Amino acid sequence: MLCELCGAEVPRTKLVMVEGAAVNVCGKCERFSSSAAVKTKDGEVVLPDVAQRLDSREKRRTERDIYQTPGEKELATDYSERIRMARQKMGMNQEELGRLINEKKGVIVNLENGSMVPNDKLISKLCRTLNITLMEVPQEAEEQKKAEYTRGLTLGDFIKVKEKKK
Ligand SMILES: [Zn+2]
Repeated sequence: MLCELCGAEVPRTKLVMVEGAAVNVCGKCERFSSSAAVKTKDGEVVLPDVAQRLDSREKRRTERDIYQTPGEKELATDYSERIRMARQKMGMNQEELGRLINEKKGVIVNLENGSMVPNDKLISKLCRTLNITLMEVPQEAEEQKKAEYTRGLTLGDFIKVKEKKK
């Protein structure tokens, strides 16, 4: 094998980090390295502590994919209602609100009848102007799922009871 640092032909080279670059070096040049490098799953050559960091970061990412981060906010399902109510409370018509946030009246109309889903920029403009919040943690959806599950169990139990009686 060839030492990439001094060019010497040696029986064995070692992969090390030298000045931030991964190189195969001979025993003599090994002392130039700050620490031994390792290969990550992606085939990248990095320092051991970097590999560890990458690994834990990947683990965190995978966990997030499986379990949705609790407390992640989503656009409220009743955003149309919230916009309309807040606007009325402030005594504005749709055109006035539109002018205030630099949007056409049609945008406000569509937002309030739910035919348009606001993007992040529009959401923040609306929230600021109307002093409302349109983002929320979707807890209701979770509770609904639970309720459905419970209902299913209840129905199953009910059938069991009926079968027993036969
Ligand atoms: Zn060497």
